[in-house]
Amino acid sequence: MDYHLENVPSKFVTTEKALNTFEKYFGPYPFPGDGIKFLETPHAMEHQSAVALGFEYFQNGENEDTGTKPDFAAGELPDQILLHEFAHEWWGNSVSCTDNAELWIHEAFATYAEALFIEEQYSYEEALVYLNAMKPSVSNKQPVIGHFGVNHVHYNIWDMYVKGALFLNTLRHVIDNDSLWFGIIKGIPQDFKYQSINTHQILEYFNQRTGTNFTPLFDQYLRLTEIPILEIQMKEKPSGNILQYRWKANTEDFAMPITYQIASGEKKWISPNSDWQKLELGSTQVEDLDFHTDRFYFKIEKD
Ligand SMILES: [Zn+2]
Repeated sequence: MDYHLENVPSKFVTTEKALNTFEKYFGPYPFPGDGIKFLETPHAMEHQSAVALGFEYFQNGENEDTGTKPDFAAGELPDQILLHEFAHEWWGNSVSCTDNAELWIHEAFATYAEALFIEEQYSYEEALVYLNAMKPSVSNKQPVIGHFGVNHVHYNIWDMYVKGALFLNTLRHVIDNDSLWFGIIKGIPQDFKYQSINTHQILEYFNQRTGTNFTPLFDQYLRLTEIPILEIQMKEKPSGNILQYRWKANTEDFAMPITYQIASGEKKWISPNSDWQKLELGSTQVEDLDFHTDRFYFKIEKD
């Protein structure tokens, strides 16, 4: 709107940063012939090459990047709506889902793109803080993937954004190879450019590129309601403490390696599955174990 024009120039700065970031992580902007346009509108929506940003975004001082570091732990991110809707040009407008049941393909990646922007502008650690601040808003009441063939969108749609983004963060850390991870999330929007795809195709893509079967992970996080629970028990013995651990999950054969550290020591791996396994800890207490729940989305139950 012409009466908000004075608030626009700062948005150009963000747009340029966002374009550079998303082209780095997802490949070239998919609609160069159309250009890039943002519209002041009653409601935000990712219309291809003319992205609607709602009516609050261009108002005076709203969502302004003031140059001070945002409180990522409180979920703050200046220009979040521009970043999110713009990311949909790659995830949603260029690569689309074939059925509304799988809208997570649009929303999880667009939400994860917000964290990638933070990783690019600030740091990996700050991006982790932002992602983990989403946890309280996950409801885990319905699976992320909905019902097929009936144009189904959940009544509570938020999990496809936040749980979906936390799932992607988990997948990155299970893969534990950033060049491979970034190769995959750039590869999907390139190899499936201007196509409609489904979850199975994304799963197959991950499986082929990593040589790992991620079916149980995709099923647990996207097709079922609960997140995996790490059950742990500590046995104190004269010869040293022993930690017993296993996954409590709904997916058969669920197995997911995770990392932990003791005090400020080096990162270590365990590979829990549904059977009890043991870890000799010597004099270390269970309280001294720092499981990396910020990198892998799971709960811990102590016996
Ligand atoms: Zn969205």
